[in-house]
Amino acid sequence: MNECVLPDPSGFFEIRFESIGGLGAHAAGQILARAAVLKMNLNGSHFSSYGSEKKGSPVRSYVRLGAADKPIRTSAPIDSPDVIVVFHGALLDQDITIAGMKNSGTLIFNGPADEAHEFLEKIPKGTRVVRIDATNIAIEELSRPNAVLLGTLTATVPFLDGDIVLSTLTEKFAKRNPQAAASNERAFKRGAEEYEVLEGVGKGEGDLPVIRPSPVLGYETAPIGGVIPYAGNTVSNDLSTSRTGWMPLFTAKECIHCGLCATVCPDFCLVWTHEQEGEEVPVVRLKGVDYQYCKGCMRCIETCPTEAMTRVTETPGLADRERVPLYSQGATGA
Ligand code: SF4
Ligand code: SF4
Repeated sequence: MNECVLPDPSGFFEIRFESIGGLGAHAAGQILARAAVLKMNLNGSHFSSYGSEKKGSPVRSYVRLGAADKPIRTSAPIDSPDVIVVFHGALLDQDITIAGMKNSGTLIFNGPADEAHEFLEKIPKGTRVVRIDATNIAIEELSRPNAVLLGTLTATVPFLDGDIVLSTLTEKFAKRNPQAAASNERAFKRGAEEYEVLEGVGKGEGDLPVIRPSPVLGYETAPIGGVIPYAGNTVSNDLSTSRTGWMPLFTAKECIHCGLCATVCPDFCLVWTHEQEGEEVPVVRLKGVDYQYCKGCMRCIETCPTEAMTRVTETPGLADRERVPLYSQGATGA
């Protein structure tokens, strides 16, 4: 067993994965804690919190590590982590994703090169900010972002032994799916090599404040009968973070306006217009997708008889640029 020494053996080293169901944050936390406890002579605990549905809804996964002689007697959520790993770039737009970020800590986020994220200015000045294009690497290697991000995490946090974490990852898949084990290994190694440390992006002073997510309605405030008292709440919903790296892209010149995509879209996020020239009967035309309501299920792509709907990697800002709003700003209240 390797002896791994924490930066501060008198305290805990805490890692928080900020993710969306389906990107593998829970599995990443399990693998990391398993490697630390069984092979690095550390104490460790791991647990996750989910939303109402697993896939597509926000997931937080927590890993708390301590020295072998320091028992972990808490399973409280990690409010002020030493490392935050963000599995999806869209999550960076929410304050709660980076809440509690330490000035002395590390932020690792999934994002392509040369896409500046203005939100990163909120990060404390002293925080080390690390970018890795985990989605594209995962696609290229037929793996998942969690393998890439584990590689980046172990490469940027020196006391975590990358070889041990990789061998634990491989063991998980070796018997069940040897092909996946090889893909994950390549993805992990690329994560450890292809990351970029961004200099001078954070402008915040001191640690960021802690935010505890609190439900709008609890047992004391929920109306009797389970009624949702907010009118129009589905209009103001935003499903952007339900997409897990891919989005449908509409190419108007390929579209024959057959309407098949509309019959399968579960969220009615396709935008149609009625065009009328002179006395002619109005013609219904597809204009595009309102990505605020698109959860990225890809049914429209599977159904489209032409190549008018194609699956593309979602890069920051692409959905905003391509979005065709279903409602006016006033109607959404957004
Ligand atoms: S991927 Fe296509 S079918 Fe699925 S929600 Fe988005 S637009 Fe609708
Ligand atoms: S299924 Fe394809 S061709 Fe038909 S309306 Fe939708 S995008 Fe256009």
